[in-house]
Amino acid sequence: MKHLPHKTIERLSQYRRALLICAAKGKTHIFSHEIAKIQHITPVQVRRDIMLIGYTGTLRKGYNIQELIDLIGDIIDTKEGLNVAVVGIGNLGRAMINYFNGKRTKLSIVAGFDSNPDKIDRIYSGVKGYHIDRLAEIIKEENISIAIITVPAGAAPEIADKLVNAGIKGILNYTPKPVQVPSHIYLEEYDMITSLEKVAFFVKTH
Ligand code: ATP
Repeated sequence: MKHLPHKTIERLSQYRRALLICAAKGKTHIFSHEIAKIQHITPVQVRRDIMLIGYTGTLRKGYNIQELIDLIGDIIDTKEGLNVAVVGIGNLGRAMINYFNGKRTKLSIVAGFDSNPDKIDRIYSGVKGYHIDRLAEIIKEENISIAIITVPAGAAPEIADKLVNAGIKGILNYTPKPVQVPSHIYLEEYDMITSLEKVAFFVKTH
């Protein structure tokens, strides 16, 4: 399934979240047009994504929600789960730790890193804060494969380099500063300010 388009992976994750909510409400089956409505996309897109993972529903009942949740899990999750680190234990980093832990079972934030001595050797929602100088050591020790960058924008490129050198496999850059990483590292950049400004633009022009 390595050949699945990135956008499909992203949507599968979103479908699963929607499906889990439906399952919790006691719903057992769902049609592609229902998923499409929740996700604000077309039923064709939903059917195409789900076909790509080799699943088909029935004409009469649609998709079996639990089967689809399990199948998406088989594709997206790893059996033993993945460990995540947050670099920059400021307001955003702490919010990420707080929000994330307890929500997802297959991804767990296991360490925080910061350069400010006041942030070190403290526990944030169950996650220990380490000095940034210990990045490589702890990443290895705790088998961390993903890092979330929440330092101030100016420090992001330097942190990305350190993470790459420490052997990280995936990075979610939460700062507005784009970073460069070698092609074998999966990089996702999410700039909250740009996203919000995009929303503001459409609000203004409507
Ligand atoms: P707080 O008020 O708790 O410091 P903040 O959200 O105002 O939080 P920011 O200035 O956004 O903090 O910085 C985020 C975090 O990144 C801080 O905890 C800061 O100490 C840390 N930080 C800044 N530069 C680096 C760096 N080069 N390496 C590691 N951590 C860093």
